[in-house]
Amino acid sequence: MFEIYKKHIAKMESRISKIEASPDPTKLLSNKLRYELERDKMLEEIHAFEGGQLIGHSVCGIGARLFVAMGAHYIHPSITADSVFSPYARQLLDIGVKLGFPERGCERTILPIAAIADKQMPPPSFTVATTDSCDWMAHECEAIARMVGCPSYTIDTSPIHDEKGLNYITDQMYEMVDYLHKKVPGLRSFADSEEDLAVLQERYGKMFGHIREVYKFMMHVPSPLPNGETFRIPWLDRLPKNGLDKSETYFRMFRDEVGERVVKKIEGVPGERLRIMLAVSGPFYSDLLKYLEKRQIAMVVVYNGLVPSYVGVAPSMFDKNVFGRKLSPMEVEARRQQDISWGSMGEIWAEHGVRLCQAFQCDAILYLLQSGCTPTLGTWKLLAEKAEKELGIPTLAYDGRMMISDEYDEKKLHDLVDIFFEMKS
Ligand code: SF4
Repeated sequence: MFEIYKKHIAKMESRISKIEASPDPTKLLSNKLRYELERDKMLEEIHAFEGGQLIGHSVCGIGARLFVAMGAHYIHPSITADSVFSPYARQLLDIGVKLGFPERGCERTILPIAAIADKQMPPPSFTVATTDSCDWMAHECEAIARMVGCPSYTIDTSPIHDEKGLNYITDQMYEMVDYLHKKVPGLRSFADSEEDLAVLQERYGKMFGHIREVYKFMMHVPSPLPNGETFRIPWLDRLPKNGLDKSETYFRMFRDEVGERVVKKIEGVPGERLRIMLAVSGPFYSDLLKYLEKRQIAMVVVYNGLVPSYVGVAPSMFDKNVFGRKLSPMEVEARRQQDISWGSMGEIWAEHGVRLCQAFQCDAILYLLQSGCTPTLGTWKLLAEKAEKELGIPTLAYDGRMMISDEYDEKKLHDLVDIFFEMKS
């Protein structure tokens, strides 16, 4: 049981030991804490399952605070798939297909279902689905709940991120917490949890502020971080429930280290000659980011749903007075569903993408399109056209499977990159 989790924990342990034995002064020292947090989170999830504690699965991000305040652990199944399951993607997808899921679906959403079926990930006591990113992720949470036989609630998000939309989401969230409190024995009521939720929001807000500062440092030319580190700039959806002190230390240290690199003029990509934005997905199995580095191309920002709010080109749940008033703790969590730049209007996606390119002084966009990802099908073109028109920067779009390497043709991708960036330079 949980063999993949255990292998990942061993990997983290080995990285921690290496840093302890001989810290590399060219790398971020805060990485040691980061690996510890990753290890602690996974151990905590295993112990929670073994100890019969409540676990909520959701792709909505609010679980990090709301589920925890209500007394449960939080797992984001698709972010776990990105971090933990991608090396085992083919093995897990085969299980998913045997369960009846499509071979050609988005892997980020099928892998977690297969991982639960194969006893590789702790199953939930309840799930919350949301349409903030895509229908695939919402259906993923519903499918997990049906498979394990636990309660599930689906939040329908508003396409427009205004106050009316906020009220629409907040109403559903009140209904959701009541429903779950009645259906899940041991889950605290919202009334009993609200004060703890406000405290968690305060603490998360400070860590969020540190990440926003890191992004400000990333706007410097040349980029202070190598491409791999930029790709891994963390979100706040995967922190251990009982590790907030360590998490706060980590984010402070991470911010300070990146800031110091800017002051010392350390080049993340030596000889940086081009700066690019990577859109949406990650080349999980390939050496693409290193290949770009060899060609002195710095990947300075990854555009996925939440990054505009982290960077500050779009408002965030942690910003005060977004609608000209102080929001209640529940409204703050409802705002999290509006922080995301996709899963809503294509114009928002295109607009925020262009603002990011501008803020980070990008010369081009590299757009990796995950096969089976319906939200990117039409929207990638909207962004490419807007970036060309408003900033005069081109987009290279590459369509393929981002976790399953079966069809990956490294030479073809490298050739494409070479031709595209030679044209650009
Ligand atoms: S890659 Fe696309 S389909 Fe898959 S989870 Fe992300 S937004 Fe949804």
